[in-house]
Amino acid sequence: MDKHNTSWFAGWYAQQDYRHVSQCLPLPQAPGVEFLFGVEAEMTMDMVVGVSPQRYDAFDFIVVPISHFHQVGFTISQEEAATPEGVATKFLDKLEAVLDQSLPYHKVGLAHLVSAKLCDAAVYCQVVRLITGERLQRLFTKTAELGVGIELNVDTFLFKSPEEEKAVLDLYRLAKQCGCKFYFATDAHHPSGLVGRKAAAERIVDLLELTEDDKFRLRR
Ligand SMILES: [Zn+2]
Repeated sequence: MDKHNTSWFAGWYAQQDYRHVSQCLPLPQAPGVEFLFGVEAEMTMDMVVGVSPQRYDAFDFIVVPISHFHQVGFTISQEEAATPEGVATKFLDKLEAVLDQSLPYHKVGLAHLVSAKLCDAAVYCQVVRLITGERLQRLFTKTAELGVGIELNVDTFLFKSPEEEKAVLDLYRLAKQCGCKFYFATDAHHPSGLVGRKAAAERIVDLLELTEDDKFRLRR
């Protein structure tokens, strides 16, 4: 395990405590727009989700990324990150673990389920295909039963090859078959980053043949 990475990431997240994220309160107001107070809470390789139960009520929405595997030494061990099989197994282990906690699942989403953060680009399709199978089907069924939302991050659907398109769509279609509900997200950090994203989201609606029934509805 890379101790340097572990302590660096732990320190980086330590600064992003409740006092830090609550600086955006009170939320903006605008006619016709509902603003939610949410947080993306990291999940470590030891299956710890970075939001304490005492804070569950403070948030309208909590998203958990299980695949921030670019943070080797913090979210995945070096050994696990070394092979496509290791990455795929860790992904499934983390998905199982996040569904096995006592999170307020009616307002929890799985951030960018698969994305470029998963692994090296050279093995991305292979890893996505290794993830997609019977174990994932079981876990997606539980995801649906718990009412956890699955994020459709528009960047995940900007395919670089037909092979990638097939692997990624197969995974999300399996989620849909299992009854999972979806919401859209971008990783825009500035309003300019939202340009063109509505059209990109509409393309995903067509690709996955989504209807209103497939929409994740936050309960508060
Ligand atoms: Zn993220």
